Amino acid sequence: MKIRKGIPVIDQHDKSYMYGGKFGGNFIPETLKKPVEDLTILFEKLRKNKEFLKQRDYYFKNYVGAPTPFIKLNNLTNHLGGAQIWAKVVAEANGGAHKIYNATVHALICKKAGKKYIVGDTGAGYAGKMLSMAAKKFGLKCKIFMGAKDIERQKPNCDAMKKNGAEIVPVHTGSKTLVDAVSECMRYWVSNCDTTHMCVGSTVGPNIFIKICAWSTAQISRELIVQVKKEFGKIPKKMKLINCVGGGSSALGFWNSFMDYNKNQVEMIGVEAGGPKNSKLHAAPLSTNAKVGILHGAAQYVIQDKEGQISNTASISAGLDYPGISPVHCFLKDTKRARYTSATDEEALHSHQLVTKFENISPSLEPSHAFAEAIKIAPKLSKDTVIIVNSCGDAKKDRDILKKRLGKKI
Ligand SMILES: *Cc1c(COP(=O)(O)O)cnc(C)c1O
Repeated sequence: MKIRKGIPVIDQHDKSYMYGGKFGGNFIPETLKKPVEDLTILFEKLRKNKEFLKQRDYYFKNYVGAPTPFIKLNNLTNHLGGAQIWAKVVAEANGGAHKIYNATVHALICKKAGKKYIVGDTGAGYAGKMLSMAAKKFGLKCKIFMGAKDIERQKPNCDAMKKNGAEIVPVHTGSKTLVDAVSECMRYWVSNCDTTHMCVGSTVGPNIFIKICAWSTAQISRELIVQVKKEFGKIPKKMKLINCVGGGSSALGFWNSFMDYNKNQVEMIGVEAGGPKNSKLHAAPLSTNAKVGILHGAAQYVIQDKEGQISNTASISAGLDYPGISPVHCFLKDTKRARYTSATDEEALHSHQLVTKFENISPSLEPSHAFAEAIKIAPKLSKDTVIIVNSCGDAKKDRDILKKRLGKKI
């Protein structure tokens, strides 16, 4: 299995949409084939269309707020006494996280398709919240499919979706969580695809959704490569790009423009959710050597039991609590272009505390997993090593849990 240079990694699949012959594909029911094919044709046209690219860039700049800052964390660097630590503060984007890139692009595609309705799934509620924001911005009617259990647990996000005019459709089947919400949303889309566009909230699902999402978040590294060259005059000799991974959309966006560099120069490190210390409920398929299975229409490493049933996972960070992972990350793991590890809930809490003690940024619990790895490795590395962490979410959304676990008010 090999990664090729000069070709976007999302396009390195075969005719069956498989990466490395093993991951991805479109394992979907017959009824879903036509809408997926139509969307594929439309997107492949749009991504080459100058007018559409201009529109995307306009809204990324004037709605999302591009470019997001690239800053040096001097105090944290001095405290740890090794590699330089920098942050790409994607949390400064409108809505407080990277999910707005995907939501904005889907809203634009929906308009181009001449559709007035947009549907999406959500687990913790952030994908739903961002999609409801984008729908409001572009005058689209929005439905969000959400597990009944998640609706109970995620009241603030549900309130935000309603405030943006979205309808929340509770899903009562199966485990009443994200996995079921995605299935229900796809069923709805099949029956309504003439008027309705569908958005998947991360780089998972049938291939077209992986592509649209990673193509959207690629904005992060398009900005970063310019910022790095401006700061250092070139790409530093030793650089490490650290990102948390749930479904994998922020990491793929953060790494995209650096993919062709040698891994000895630009190392990519993905940090999964290790869950509570001493528990086995890791939401970490890549770093725990999970087996390949099919989830949401694509083959990937997935947390499963001996019979192949999807297992329960747990993480302090709702955004990372997903049993599967983008097939593109599975490909990057097997080709060894990226390295994957995990951080526990406790490590993420500790790193959140340390970063906020020394710096004026407040990473949410997801990027706190990435900071945990940076904090672990920085002291052992030389001062000319440049570590960049994608601070992809703001801790405002984690207010309640941080208060409960750290007794902290933010
Ligand atoms: C949703 C979310 C994630 C996890 O999703 P990815 O697709 O892996 O990026 C990570 N961080 C934040 C802040 C999120 O909202």
